[in-house]
Parts: sequence; structure tokens; C-alpha cells
Amino acid sequence: MKLKIIFAVTILALAAAGPAAGLIAAFSTLGPARIAACVAGMLALEALILTGIFERRAPVFGRIFWRGPAGLRAVSLTFDDGPNEPYTSRVLDILKEFDVRATFFLIGQNVEAFPDAARRAAAEGHELGNHGWDHGVLPLETPARIRDQIVRTNDAIMNATGARPVLFRASHGWRNPWVNGAAKGAGCRPVAWTLGVWDTDRPGAREIVRRTLRGLGGGSVILLHDGRGTEHGADSSQLVEALPEIIEGARAAGYHFLTLSEMAKEAGRK
Ligand SMILES: [Zn+2]
Repeated sequence: MKLKIIFAVTILALAAAGPAAGLIAAFSTLGPARIAACVAGMLALEALILTGIFERRAPVFGRIFWRGPAGLRAVSLTFDDGPNEPYTSRVLDILKEFDVRATFFLIGQNVEAFPDAARRAAAEGHELGNHGWDHGVLPLETPARIRDQIVRTNDAIMNATGARPVLFRASHGWRNPWVNGAAKGAGCRPVAWTLGVWDTDRPGAREIVRRTLRGLGGGSVILLHDGRGTEHGADSSQLVEALPEIIEGARAAGYHFLTLSEMAKEAGRK
């Protein structure tokens, strides 16, 4: 789904550049070399903007934390789009059983729907991050609305748990020039991830385990989902089924687990 949107926007942008180049050529008094330079400049600018929006790690619209030190024998498990019951509680059960601390990026609306799960996550030592109010497409929103998405979610998490988030992850990792500033203004560091395994596509628990363990590296920030957008009760059973094997596999490969803020602190030491 996400790839399709990125692909469609990219094709549209490039398609728009074609006629624009034609118009420049038809009406311009510039020589062919200068026209070619104009077109090349437009395409380069377009590519830069598209990269800034869709490439979660790109610093085009501000720096972002997305991986820990490669030499560290540690990884971060992060769960987006919750709370979403009963799956968030099942994830918390597993993390407790294996004594793992993780980071949950919560959606404000979902916190209002499932405050108990958010409270439990905080009480059991997990880190809570801000994932926006309604999982909207931030690059299409105004600076004021982006700020509202972040502040409302911080307030919802505070009200439910007493904990104030210090991390913000944009939905889909998509940003525009105002996202980083809005996050920082609300006291949150903008963060992304190292390894996404597309678990919301529900490829089967075995495949989720395989993709995760195959992609693991020192300092990896792993993106998993205990929910799907604002869909309350979205089926995340495959992730629940995969999680014990992911934890055991990562430990067998010599990794221990850090919350995302702990990972960022390690990165700051280097
Ligand atoms: Zn999300």
C-alpha cells in the first residue's frame, strides 16, 4: 500500500516535469543548453523534495535518529499504531515473560480507546512514544495541524499514563519541512527506524520472524506493529505469534534489547 502511494506520487511528479519542460522549451528564448539545465534543475529539486518526504532517514527536512551504533550488540523493538486490544496486552505479556523492555509509538485516538493498555505498558517499564493523533498523512497537513497532532497525542498519553513522551515518529515515516520543528516544539525528538518487516501486510508469523532475523544488525531499530492505524481491534495476531521467536532469535544471535531512548543515548556516546 505504502509503496504504491510512493510509486504513484513519484510517477505523477516525473510526469508533470515532462510537460513543464515542454512548455519551457516552447516559450523560452533560452538556448537549448540553458533549457536542459533548467529541466535538470527542476528534476533534481523534485527528487530532493520527494526524498525528504518519503525517505524516512533522509535529513532533507531535518536530522532524524534511525539507528544505534553498528558495533553495539543491542537492538530496539518498537511497536507502532497501538494501543490496540487484545493484541497490545498479548505483546506486553510476551515482553514480560521474556523480560524485554520495548518502545511503543502510540496513536492519540487509540490511547483514548484503550487507556488501560497504555497505562500498563508505562507501568511495566516500556517507553511510550508519540505517533500522532489519527495516523494522518502529515506531508499534506499545515504546520498548525501537525503541531496539533503531536500536542494532542502527548496530552492523551500524559492523561492516561502520567508519562510524557520524548520521541515522535511520523506515520509511515513521512515528513515535510514542518514536522521536525513541531515535534521538537512539543519536547519530542523525531525518530524513524532501521528495519521494517511489513508485518501489517500479514505475511504469516513465520515470514515476520524470517524477515526480522535476516535483517538484524547491531544498533537496529526494528519496526513492528501491535495495531494498524486507527482501526480498533485490527488483527495483529501474526505479530503476537512471531514475537517470542524474534526475541529468542535475536538473543541467540547475541543481541540484548534497549528502549529507543536508551539506544539514542548509546549513539550519543559514540
Ligand atoms: Zn503507524
